[in-house]
Amino acid sequence: MGIRNYPELRNANSLALLSFPRKRESRNSAKIQPGSPPEFTPHLMRGGDDKINMEKKEIKIIGAGLSGLTAGINLAKAGYKVKIFEKNDTVGKRFHGDYQGIENWVYNQDALECIQQLNIEISFPYYSVRQVKIIGPQGKIYSIQFQKNVFYLVRRGIAQDTLDHNLYEQAKLSGVEVIFNAPQDYRQFGDIIAQGFIPDRVTDALVPGYTFKTKSPDQYWVIVDDAIAPDGYGYCFIVNGLATLAICIYSDFSKSKENLERAYDVFQKNIHFEANDKIFFCGTSNGFLMKNAVFDNRLYVGEAAGFIDCLWGFGMKYAMISGYLAAQSIIKNQNYNYLWKKEIGSQFKASFVNHWYYKMLGKRSYQWILDKMRKSADPAVSLNKMCNYSIVQKLGFPLAFCFLRKKAKDRRKL
Ligand SMILES: Cc1cc2nc3c(=O)[nH]c(=O)nc-3n(C[C@H](O)[C@H](O)[C@H](O)COP(=O)(O)OP(=O)(O)OC[C@H]3O[C@@H](n4cnc5c(N)ncnc54)[C@H](O)[C@@H]3O)c2cc1C
Repeated sequence: MGIRNYPELRNANSLALLSFPRKRESRNSAKIQPGSPPEFTPHLMRGGDDKINMEKKEIKIIGAGLSGLTAGINLAKAGYKVKIFEKNDTVGKRFHGDYQGIENWVYNQDALECIQQLNIEISFPYYSVRQVKIIGPQGKIYSIQFQKNVFYLVRRGIAQDTLDHNLYEQAKLSGVEVIFNAPQDYRQFGDIIAQGFIPDRVTDALVPGYTFKTKSPDQYWVIVDDAIAPDGYGYCFIVNGLATLAICIYSDFSKSKENLERAYDVFQKNIHFEANDKIFFCGTSNGFLMKNAVFDNRLYVGEAAGFIDCLWGFGMKYAMISGYLAAQSIIKNQNYNYLWKKEIGSQFKASFVNHWYYKMLGKRSYQWILDKMRKSADPAVSLNKMCNYSIVQKLGFPLAFCFLRKKAKDRRKL
């Protein structure tokens, strides 16, 4: 995926995509065994040496999204006065009532348990998904049954039943003050930068789609086919009579509308849904690896820090984890860079290299993943293994770095 393209970060960091500091990692990290990514273990965290001076009691956060609200909740619970500055007049305006999945394979620990450990109550509606139908590159349908929930679907947007709204309610109850209609400039303002997608960056992924009402029963479909979703995938989730049908693409942005229509036709042919009140939406996202997520004493969290799985664009859990870690670094005067590298750093590096493999090998890699999942007693284990920064990812890293850096530059010229 892309490399950050705003000068402030580039200068601070020389070349952004770097291996993390070996010395600090080996001294402090829990051992990560191949095939067994660690649980998210906040109780094991210890600080680094170069602590951030954050000994003030009022914390200003830019952005009332998942990362900013999680940071705010934790800081307020620890007695800080927290002000979140949100550019819109309500939370969740970036999204459209669409379903998004909280992935449940990167860590061994269940995603909802992990979220609870971030001091977030699981009081938001969610839908557990254990069976997914995947349409492969040749049009063949694979019905993949997982032994545990492979993801949890939540709604995003401004409605009451969205994760955004629920976190906002939790933040208010914790004593966080959210100031709406208050856009801020991340280069000059704030202690925590949680503003999600930053518009002056490269767009790494485009997610055009539809939400609609339907009478079809609940079901979860994915399609992997470059003719429909170049370097990415398409999905159609139907829950409680509401559907989200979209493609998440990493190239050929100019053909996104026609590719979406193709995906629509393929899902329609297989599911036979009737669609009412169809609404088009289009989202962008930006994920990359950085060595440093602290600039001018400001802590970058969530998508603002590039914390999105570079392979498939899952960013919600990382947004909440990084928000929590930023709060902990302030509360306990610990090194934020150390914390996020330890908890999520190797998974990001793996996702970055995997994205490159996925892109390079095209339909062969889609088929490989499908075959692995189909043959595995527990397909989540196959996905889980892919998320390790193991020998395959280590070997691929230098090439992935060169290739994706060039692509990022090329796209910026367009
Ligand atoms: C269409 C789409 C589908 C997705 N699907 C999935 C999925 O299935 N699973 C998954 O895990 N992830 C998914 N993602 C990614 C996921 O939604 C994001 O990674 C996650 O929401 C990032 O959280 P955040 O807190 O960093 O940013 P956000 O949730 O975007 O919150 C940022 C907040 O900051 C505010 N803001 C922005 N600029 C300013 C400013 N200048 N001043 C003040 N406030 C500002 C915004 O209005 C917003 O409220 C998807 C993304 C898109 C676009």
